[in-house]
Amino acid sequence: MKQIDSKLRHLIMVAFVFIAGAGFSFGQKKANIVILATGGTIAGAAGTSVQSGYTSGQVTIDAMVNAVPDVLKLANIKGEQISNVGSQDMSFEIMMKLARRIAELTAGNAVDGIVITHGTDTMEETAYFLNLVCKTDKPVVLVGSMRPSTAVSADGPLNLYNGIAVAADPNAKGRGVLLVMNDWIHSAQTLTKVSTTAVQTFMSPIRGLIGTTAYGVSEYYRYPYSKFGGKSEFSVENVTKLPRVDIIYADADMSADLVDASVEKGAKGIVIAGVGNGNMTKAALDACVRASKKGVVVVRSSRVATGNVGRNVEVNDDELGLVASSDLNPQKSRILLTLALLKQRKLDEIQKLYYEY
Ligand code: ASP
Repeated sequence: MKQIDSKLRHLIMVAFVFIAGAGFSFGQKKANIVILATGGTIAGAAGTSVQSGYTSGQVTIDAMVNAVPDVLKLANIKGEQISNVGSQDMSFEIMMKLARRIAELTAGNAVDGIVITHGTDTMEETAYFLNLVCKTDKPVVLVGSMRPSTAVSADGPLNLYNGIAVAADPNAKGRGVLLVMNDWIHSAQTLTKVSTTAVQTFMSPIRGLIGTTAYGVSEYYRYPYSKFGGKSEFSVENVTKLPRVDIIYADADMSADLVDASVEKGAKGIVIAGVGNGNMTKAALDACVRASKKGVVVVRSSRVATGNVGRNVEVNDDELGLVASSDLNPQKSRILLTLALLKQRKLDEIQKLYYEY
């Protein structure tokens, strides 16, 4: 009888430990993840499940999470709506709001990681901006989708599931701002959108992926090679307005007009989406030199999807007072220059930033 009693006691103890551990998986505490929602197709809705027309930013955070209830096994989730826009309307104001909220949320021990739901159109800008100004080493992960939530085979739910899994994963720490889409984990520095409609739209040319994930089980291949987070010198603390930087697209027979107009409109910086290795017509180059002489910083990037823009290759940057973008595309070159121009810097110092970030 005594023996039965002790067995029963043992069983009750085991059951108690099991029940007390219901919020824990494999004996580990579940991560606390905050979703910061900004809109985009992941929160988009269409009239039917098989139409291409839809409206971004229609669906609440609860509805997005309810589409993948299994995420609640991965993490404790809270959500905040930061904005509700198609990311074609993403602004520096919203990016700064995100940066500040991330700083607040990640300051203590209460939050382990952040997931940002975002439209894919300008995801590279927001990801890169946050990579430069957020100081936390906790995972900050952007997710989006190419198909609205109402579509057949919507890609948002799995992307959200994988994004939360990565944000909750201690191995994702210290890898900068990440993007998780279609099973791939990209660095903010490398990711670029390459297809207007395909689900497999993000690539990380040249430097490659940070890792991959399959139903929340992730493998990591590398850390970012560029500076970010705590090592970044950029901050938007106390910043209310950012300097104007324009991107101008180069093509055959380009005139000087847009470069001149940009200077007249008060741009402090210009990024040329050049042909090939950051090239442009003689007329446009002359206009860039005029701009540079007036103190406007001109960065030569490229409209070509991959490859470096090298200094002093076909254009003598030293002589003309220009900056080469290295491996940053025009949209990321603009983000870096915008933040760089918050402080007075010499041209060679700005050039160095393009090699480091
Ligand atoms: N226009 C949408 C957006 O960027 C496209 C998307 O999310 O895929 O918000």
